[in-house]
Amino acid sequence: MKECSSIRVGGEGDLVVVKSEEELKEAVMHAKASGLRVHILGQGTNTYFAEDLSKYLFIKPDFKGIECNLLRATSYLLQAASGESFDDVIQYSVDQGLWGIENLSRIPGSTGAAPVQNVGAYGSELKDTFVSSRVFDIEENLFKDLLNDECNFGYRDSFFKHNPGKYIIVSITLNLTKEFKPTLGYKPLDTLVGKENLTPKDVRDLVTATRLAKLPDWKKFPNTGSFFKNIVITKEALEALKVNYPNIPVNEVVGGYKVPSAWLIEHVAEAKGLKVGDIGTWEKQPLVIVNYGNATADEINAFASEIQRKIEEKTGIKLEREVNFIS
Ligand SMILES: Cc1cc2nc3c(=O)[nH]c(=O)nc-3n(C[C@H](O)[C@H](O)[C@H](O)COP(=O)(O)OP(=O)(O)OC[C@H]3O[C@@H](n4cnc5c(N)ncnc54)[C@H](O)[C@@H]3O)c2cc1C
Repeated sequence: MKECSSIRVGGEGDLVVVKSEEELKEAVMHAKASGLRVHILGQGTNTYFAEDLSKYLFIKPDFKGIECNLLRATSYLLQAASGESFDDVIQYSVDQGLWGIENLSRIPGSTGAAPVQNVGAYGSELKDTFVSSRVFDIEENLFKDLLNDECNFGYRDSFFKHNPGKYIIVSITLNLTKEFKPTLGYKPLDTLVGKENLTPKDVRDLVTATRLAKLPDWKKFPNTGSFFKNIVITKEALEALKVNYPNIPVNEVVGGYKVPSAWLIEHVAEAKGLKVGDIGTWEKQPLVIVNYGNATADEINAFASEIQRKIEEKTGIKLEREVNFIS
């Protein structure tokens, strides 16, 4: 399974690629009959695996298709199958001149996984345009539609994330618009404010250039993107933190103050660019953990735990992992 993980870590496992709803049902039936747990695999860009995977059947939905229809006036419904790369969906949407998902450009992975952690970047999240999803309910053995409200979306969070093995996402429907609606609150997109004839493509191009400059290409430096989530703390916790770390950058958000985990890794754990054996944090973005050779899951877990331990010891803050570890 290491070839199915963008950080290239994992032992052997049984994988079935399904191309139709009928094949999906059959694969789930096979898992149930064999007493195996179902794990749904997208492109593995947010996942790494243990060595012993004998209790799993990995099912990879390979459904294809992107379609866009006018809903009313300037509003469009875009439907995309779970096996499409999410970035191809964004390219399609940008080509049609539609606003809504351009800030999410270049997030790797499949369309089916995008709602699972409510992918987000540069001030946009999938939930902002998400209408519904067609899913297969593994327990009830039937296909159904789930609406946005039913998915409990939050920051890098959803119902799907808390209930793995309940639903398999078959397709998603997004509401996009031709009305001029850029989201430019985040750096460096704020440099586009006031630009004449701004298009979704302009935003996509700037996001692309920014990401290329900051993040390692996982095909050359295997990684899973941000390993930890950013955290939101209370005003009291922030004041306590500022006693020892007066320069900590924070953003006021709903429910408290958002502290960048990358800053804590750099300044509290002093782990920016740190390498232990084949594992290390990326010099330009320490939130990213890179497998520089033949790292194992145990090594990644030990490295990540040590960062968490140092930060908790010095600040009381426990970083939460964003990445899926399948064991
Ligand atoms: C370099 C890099 C940069 C990244 N940047 C960002 C970023 O800016 N923002 C962000 O939010 N994420 C980011 N990520 C994380 C990653 O791209 C997303 O989490 C993406 O949605 C994962 O897609 P995937 O298909 O690879 O999912 P996988 O890793 O294969 O799966 C992730 C989870 O989704 C579940 N899943 C997958 N497909 C389905 C399905 N069809 N039905 C039900 N469950 C399913 C899996 O079981 C698993 O729990 C980055 C990753 C990398 C490597």
